[in-house]
Amino acid sequence: MSYSHTFVSGEQVDLPVGKVFCVGQNYQDHIKEMGSVTNEQAVIFMKPNTAICTLTQPLVIPKERGECHNEVELSVLIDRPLKNATAQQAMQAICGIGIGLDLTLRDVQKELKRLGRPWERAKSFDASSPLSRFVPTAEFSDIQDLSFSLEVNNTLRQQGNSQYMVRDIVPLICEISEDFTLLPGDVVLTGTPAGVAPLIAGDSLLLTLETHQFETQVC
Ligand code: ZN
Repeated sequence: MSYSHTFVSGEQVDLPVGKVFCVGQNYQDHIKEMGSVTNEQAVIFMKPNTAICTLTQPLVIPKERGECHNEVELSVLIDRPLKNATAQQAMQAICGIGIGLDLTLRDVQKELKRLGRPWERAKSFDASSPLSRFVPTAEFSDIQDLSFSLEVNNTLRQQGNSQYMVRDIVPLICEISEDFTLLPGDVVLTGTPAGVAPLIAGDSLLLTLETHQFETQVC
């Protein structure tokens, strides 16, 4: 695996590549498009580090597994261990913010949901989590007011702002840390806004996080 966390400056982040925590149903417009409901507890699932890859390489989508949907999400890089974290500890552990995709085999996921089975085959396959380089957190004055978007073939497909999260980033990390130890190099994907749709070979993608833009394509 040729991935290491890097900052937008190009500088490598001196952290291992850990696991990915994902949160489902964290934007009302996406909850609505999926016909889901808001849950009392956060919907958490994980991807192993083999799911992480870089947006600077073309995206590889599994073949003959039905539709593979874009889910553009803000990503959060953690640089210290967290267990039963306080809000202050969680905030201090966020060393970078980026943007990435939680690629989802939607047809597989629907079938797994129908059968009441876990989601990993739909969500946690190899290279299912392409990530941008990270922007140092200090560059942002308010991580709960970050705009981001995904354009596919020059057409806006998803647009969000972290102010519209059902669960804000810090409380989300605190909640995750109640059940799971976060370790340096772990990443939290913070949920997707509306606009999930299939990606196909040849698509060109532009991911924007505030003033930072990242381009990739589907091979
Ligand atoms: Zn997602």
